[in-house]
Amino acid sequence: MAVTNLDGEYDLILYGLGVMGENFIRNFARNGYRVIGVNRTVAVTEKFAAQVAEEDIARQVGTAETLVEACQHLKSPGGAVLAMIKANDPVIEPWGGIDDLFFRGSIARYGEQEQKDVPPLVDLVPEGTVIIDAANSHPRSTRQRCAEFARRNILFIGTGVSGGSEGALKGPCIMPGGSKEAYAPVSQMLESAAAQVDGSCCTYIGDNEAGHFVKNVHNGIEYGIMQAIAEAYYALAHLLDLAPADIQPIFAEMTAGRHGGYLMEISTLILGMVDSESGKPMLDVILDRAGQKGTGKWTSQIAFDLGVPVPTVAAALQARIMSAYKPEREAAAQKLAGRLAGRFAAEDRERLIEATADALYGTMVAAYAQGFWLMREASLADPEDSNGSYDFTLQLDEIARIWKGGCIIRSQLLDPIREAHQEDPDLHNIMLAPQFSRTLEDEQFQTNWRWWVRTMAGLGLPRDAMGASLLFFDTYRTARLPANMIQAQRDCFGEHGFERVDKDGKGFHLSPAG
Ligand code: NDP
Repeated sequence: MAVTNLDGEYDLILYGLGVMGENFIRNFARNGYRVIGVNRTVAVTEKFAAQVAEEDIARQVGTAETLVEACQHLKSPGGAVLAMIKANDPVIEPWGGIDDLFFRGSIARYGEQEQKDVPPLVDLVPEGTVIIDAANSHPRSTRQRCAEFARRNILFIGTGVSGGSEGALKGPCIMPGGSKEAYAPVSQMLESAAAQVDGSCCTYIGDNEAGHFVKNVHNGIEYGIMQAIAEAYYALAHLLDLAPADIQPIFAEMTAGRHGGYLMEISTLILGMVDSESGKPMLDVILDRAGQKGTGKWTSQIAFDLGVPVPTVAAALQARIMSAYKPEREAAAQKLAGRLAGRFAAEDRERLIEATADALYGTMVAAYAQGFWLMREASLADPEDSNGSYDFTLQLDEIARIWKGGCIIRSQLLDPIREAHQEDPDLHNIMLAPQFSRTLEDEQFQTNWRWWVRTMAGLGLPRDAMGASLLFFDTYRTARLPANMIQAQRDCFGEHGFERVDKDGKGFHLSPAG
């Protein structure tokens, strides 16, 4: 079958036929748009062309061997090109494949051969085209790209997309950032392709890198919640000696209540899965080594730059990093005995189930609290400040609304988060809102969460996200922390000066006699 199969004019070129790109094409086509699929490795385009020819959207979808042919069939004006390819880490690789595609010239792969001289998109697209980067790009890269496109007078959108391959097909959450002028021509297309829950789960997020910033924060929250769910499963499995299938009804009950959301739903499903090869529970045959593509790390780095505490996200990231050291952990397990202080009594069974639910809920609240705090600080940051500052204002209640559908962190918590921000647009931390403070202050709830973390610590079991979140809650509500000693130490060795509780000003020093 010929790879290039084009007929007339198309609304959109989608470059990058990975799991996301392929399904996004089907989604746009079902919404009435004509789309051309193109991919760096031409064999992938060929395979996609054969598949799509058998589908009901065949007339809406074309394929092209290279971007040169695709651009010749793009609607003008009003066409768009959406790139959905692997993002680069700007720390490791300041300019990545996306920049080659946009500005420097891309390649087409034919088996072992490469055609190296495909011109950059900026030289191929008709005037008035909107170029969209829908990869999980680092906000810093998107800021650079915004500036470069603006310099060339080309309309550009950097958008976050969440929902995995199924979301891309049925309706993801879409978080577009860039100029309003660039968003206007593609708004209808993106908003109709998004999930529809309480309106479209796509809304204009803000200037420049706002869309990718919000997507990064989304992924940071995702890291925290995923880790917390994993710890809940682990505690129940290890302390109650339960098989995954026995934990499934406990998870199902939580999912039906205030813990409900996509990540809980899939985790409940996973608990019931059986490996067809071995007949064992699926979870029992999966290696305990988690991968990552960088967005959790970036969220933590961005938070450090902005000076916002995100301990749940950072703990989840570090838990994944530690998990990667599998052989080393196995060796250490043989050599380092834990002096375990706790015990787990059979009569604590019901208590553990209840406490796991409370610790998990508290951790979910903490993960969202950190994400929304981070987005608030980014909105307030001085754009002139070179240390991780952002030139956009985020509408936090609207972000809570669009996260309700299509995305990976959609959950029951987003309605009260949205409500809390609507009631108090200046809300500093969702833990302070009555929607959450009522639960967090409840004596039984707190006792349960503390007991859960204490039990895990006593027995030497994983508690990364649940423990970090409890600490976040405790330090946030502590009026006087031990930082007075830190101030004194800094002044002692570096004459950094300190502030006093009884006088204004910063430059006080330890007195030698003192
Ligand atoms: P991958 O992240 O696995 O990326 C594969 C695609 O990227 C292929 O089409 C590949 O082309 C292309 N690609 C990689 N490097 C280059 C390059 N230098 N030049 C041109 N093309 C390149 O695919 P996914 O579909 O999973 O994700 C696509 C994007 O969407 C990523 O940025 C990802 O982070 C983001 N995303 C993914 C989600 C998911 O659940 N998978 C969810 C939300 C966003 P080739 O076939 O030639 O190798």
